[in-house]
Amino acid sequence: VEIKLNSPIGNDMTLNDLINHGYSAIIVAVGAQKSMKLRIPGEELKGVLSGIDFLKDVNLGKEIDLKDKKVAVIGGGNVAIDSSRSALRLGAKDVQILYRRTKMDMPAHKEEIEEAEKEGIKMNFLTTPVEILGNNGEVSSIKYINMRLGEFDRSGRKRPMPIDGSECIIDIDVVVTAIGQVLDTSFLTKDTEIKTSKSRFFETDSKTMETNIEGIFVAGDAVNGPATIIEAIASGEKAALGVDNYLREGMAKEKQKETITIERTFELKEVKYQELKYQF
Ligand SMILES: Cc1cc2nc3c(=O)[nH]c(=O)nc-3n(C[C@H](O)[C@H](O)[C@H](O)COP(=O)(O)OP(=O)(O)OC[C@H]3O[C@@H](n4cnc5c(N)ncnc54)[C@H](O)[C@@H]3O)c2cc1C
Repeated sequence: VEIKLNSPIGNDMTLNDLINHGYSAIIVAVGAQKSMKLRIPGEELKGVLSGIDFLKDVNLGKEIDLKDKKVAVIGGGNVAIDSSRSALRLGAKDVQILYRRTKMDMPAHKEEIEEAEKEGIKMNFLTTPVEILGNNGEVSSIKYINMRLGEFDRSGRKRPMPIDGSECIIDIDVVVTAIGQVLDTSFLTKDTEIKTSKSRFFETDSKTMETNIEGIFVAGDAVNGPATIIEAIASGEKAALGVDNYLREGMAKEKQKETITIERTFELKEVKYQELKYQF
């Protein structure tokens, strides 16, 4: 397997270019790496970071100055937990997670939540930010509102509802947003518009992972939505089998076994026992 590093698919090299360069099949495994926006005033201020980009920069060893800073992390999943713990380890003096539901509703792994608490991360449940306030273009505080639980929603959890008049402001230097990830389709061009489903991730055949474009397959979070490593691996295996079949047979699906129907008409006659005995 040849691994080509620093070769993003997008402006300089498109999926179609790959096909023109002689690649007979392509598996797209770009993940779900675009952070969802909070959509509140102040999100454009300096000091508001997306959790995914923040963690990427930490991993790349980029210099991030959080020394003695107060950090608020918005969200309740693994990205929120990893971001909060990374911020603390980078020297932040105070890191708190703001989550709109309760602790038991957090999508993050239970052990990770416990480890984060042990490490000193504060957690504010049933709160959601309504505005990020700034000074000279930089984050200075965050205004949040308390929530109460309403009826069950489609996720099977009770829907958080804002409590009017319960807004509070806390001083903050950095806000890290981690409220979910979506698919970044900016690398696609008109000639390779892979269809997306209602959930806005790529749509594929569930058995072969082939998309609406023949020879282009998708695996991992880009089709499952943000999930787990094991689910990404499982869909990768399906896509590999789909590609194998496509390259061997010219189609991703296994050819249906040919079934031949033979029609025979029997005439039932009354046969005397004697005759029957004779025949055998
Ligand atoms: C912070 C965090 C913590 C997590 N913790 C856990 C955990 O504890 N356990 C668990 O099972 N799962 C965890 N997950 C989920 C798990 O990481 C994902 O489900 C899994 O990595 C998905 O694999 P993937 O190959 O589909 O995508 P990714 O692992 O996201 O890989 C996508 C790759 O595609 C590259 N890429 C994107 N666009 C392009 C392009 N245009 N051209 C070229 N390359 C591109 C990206 O740079 C990236 O390297 C976590 C996720 C996050 C974000």
